[in-house]
Amino acid sequence: MKKLEERIVRDGKVISQDILKVDSFLNHQIDPVLMKEIGEEFYRLFKDEGITKILTIEASGIAIASFTAMAFHVPFVFAKKAKSLNIDGDVLTSTVKSFTYGKEYTITVAKKFIRPDDRILIVDDFLANGMALNGLTDIVHQAGAVTAGIGICIEKGFQKGGEEIRRKGYHLESLAIIDKMDETGITFRD
Ligand code: 5GP
Repeated sequence: MKKLEERIVRDGKVISQDILKVDSFLNHQIDPVLMKEIGEEFYRLFKDEGITKILTIEASGIAIASFTAMAFHVPFVFAKKAKSLNIDGDVLTSTVKSFTYGKEYTITVAKKFIRPDDRILIVDDFLANGMALNGLTDIVHQAGAVTAGIGICIEKGFQKGGEEIRRKGYHLESLAIIDKMDETGITFRD
C-alpha cells in the first residue's frame, strides 16, 4: 500500500535495526484518514473469505480492527492482555512472548465471542517473529473457528514471523513489508 509506505518513510523513526516507531500515526496518535484506507484495503484483500469477525490484540490493534470491522460490517474482538479469571471455562487463553518487552504474557478472549462457525480475520500493526499471531491463531483454533485471513500493517520481512505464518498455509497479507532498515533509510519489498 503506497500511502502507508510513504507515511512510514515520512514519519516513522528507525529506533534500531529491528524496531520501527510509528507512534505519530499508527499506534499511539492515530491518523483516522489513513486508518480508514487501511480498513478498506483489508476489505479489498479479504472480501471473498466470508469473514464474520475481526480479531486483534490490545492495545495497538484496536484502532486497526475497528476501521477494518467497519469496512466489513462485522464486529471486532480484541484479546485482552490482563489475566482474566476462568472460573467456569468461559474464556480462551494463550501465551505470547512480547517482541517489544521480551516477557511472556497471557491473552484472553471470552468464549462467547468466537463461535465454531466464525471465519476470523486477524489484524495487527506489526509482524516481527509471529508470537502475537501464534497466540491469536491458537485462540481461534481452540474456539473451533477458522482463521480465514491475517492482515498486517507493517511486516518486518527480515524477521522470521512472515515466512513461518505463510509456511503454515495462512492467507497473510501485509500492507508494507520492510526488507531492511537502518539510519540511512528503509527498503520495502516490491
Ligand atoms: P511478534 O509477535 O510478531 O514477534 O511481534 C509483533 C508485536 O510486537 C506487535 O503486536 C507489535 O505491537 C510489536 N512490535 C513488533 N515489532 C515492532 C516494531 O518494530 N515497532 C513497534 N512499535 N512494535 C513492534
